[in-house]
Amino acid sequence: MNLRTRFAPSPTGYLHVGSIRTALFAWLLARQKGGQFILRIEDTDKSREVQGSIEHIITCLNELGLDYDEGPDKGGPYGPYRQSERLDIYRDWALALIKLGRAYADPLSPEQLAEYHDQAAKNHQPFLYRNHRPDHPPAWVYAKLPLRFKSEPKDYAWHDMIMGDLSAKADAIDDFVLIKSDGYPTYNFAHIVDDYEMQISHVIRGQEFIASTPNYLNLYEALNIEHPTFATPPPVLGPSGNKKLSKRDGAKDILNYIEEGFLPDALINFMASLGWNDGTTKELFSREELLKTFSIERVGKSGARFDEKRLIWMNGAHIRQLPIEELELRAERFWPPEAAKFDADYRCRVLSLIQERLKYLAELPSLSLYFFVDLPIDPDLINNNAKLSALNHETLKSLLKQTLEQLDSSDFSLSDLNLRLNTLLQLTNQPPAVLFSLIRIATTQAVASPQLADSLELIGKERVLRRITQQIESL
Ligand code: GLU
Repeated sequence: MNLRTRFAPSPTGYLHVGSIRTALFAWLLARQKGGQFILRIEDTDKSREVQGSIEHIITCLNELGLDYDEGPDKGGPYGPYRQSERLDIYRDWALALIKLGRAYADPLSPEQLAEYHDQAAKNHQPFLYRNHRPDHPPAWVYAKLPLRFKSEPKDYAWHDMIMGDLSAKADAIDDFVLIKSDGYPTYNFAHIVDDYEMQISHVIRGQEFIASTPNYLNLYEALNIEHPTFATPPPVLGPSGNKKLSKRDGAKDILNYIEEGFLPDALINFMASLGWNDGTTKELFSREELLKTFSIERVGKSGARFDEKRLIWMNGAHIRQLPIEELELRAERFWPPEAAKFDADYRCRVLSLIQERLKYLAELPSLSLYFFVDLPIDPDLINNNAKLSALNHETLKSLLKQTLEQLDSSDFSLSDLNLRLNTLLQLTNQPPAVLFSLIRIATTQAVASPQLADSLELIGKERVLRRITQQIESL
């Protein structure tokens, strides 16, 4: 059997980690098994549609490298891949269901409906449409009356690749709307038609659809078609771990992370790890490793907590593994403007010094600016350093003057710089936490920087001496 999966987002604007993770699982499954991964846009609820969402979805998938074989911008043998362009197809299927005696026009007015709801509540019973089926439903007029499925309630048991064996009693089943009065199908109907027509073999989607699955199974049966295999990942939970992740938890749109310089492979690693591991404690996976070792059956049943700190850590780890030439390519749009005056070789050397500390590429300017320009003296750097602020200005000046003397006669090779710094420790009788912090502040105006000698070598003699002199003058 040919394995085909799909990502079927509704164009409602925001694409968060949870929905992209479903897309990732579907993509991994298809790519592992030599199958196809399809993008289908589910735009049948016009009131929820947000302009530009489709482009946004496509950009996200492209940026993450989740390539799809068929889709609205790609075409394919089972198109169109936007539900709003498939209305005729749903109407044909609806007419077929009417012929089978399994769908009826719903004439209930909102007032009648409210009354039935009240009655059910009074009797402490759940409201079910199927208890109010009209004996003689009117003829269905497309795009005038809703069309409802005529269910045949029964118990169901089914298997889910992740959630295991599931079941539901007949009372979970009700008559649901297939086509709304505006002529658009509901999700409940359209996805079944499309998954069948597009020959989707595996449906990977969120937990919110499990409760409706008995209804879907009833419809598959009415249509006499086989249902695809279901795989339902657990929800992605907010940082507190007790409810579903939402915008309010500070979870950004996936594109925001890309814009901040999170690497696609790190994002993919992170999302795959929400609910999945390979059975060992290994946390870092390249895309190739994921393709080799990921298995949908190993996705856990309980919710996975979204922890942005872990994402940041993971991204830093992926950045550290990048060959410097690749990091240079990725860093291109993140450099501070001042870097433009320096050649690629110099920028690469800067990168190799800060690669260790870089957690995401938007940090590049703040971590590298001093390699490109002399920064204004920031007195707080000394004031806020407990050890340095305990010394008086004369002492600080004297330490810097001795440094100036030593470095003035250095050839600024790495080995000589290391030698000079050691000599200075002996001469001044100060610990590195004092002396090196002071030199670091004077030459970079930053609290932290790479190895001091490395930084000094790269900044170069002329600028180092100038910056130390300026610091002395400021004291
Ligand atoms: N359009 C549905 C949603 O965005 C997709 C559900 C599915 O994958 O079937 O929630």
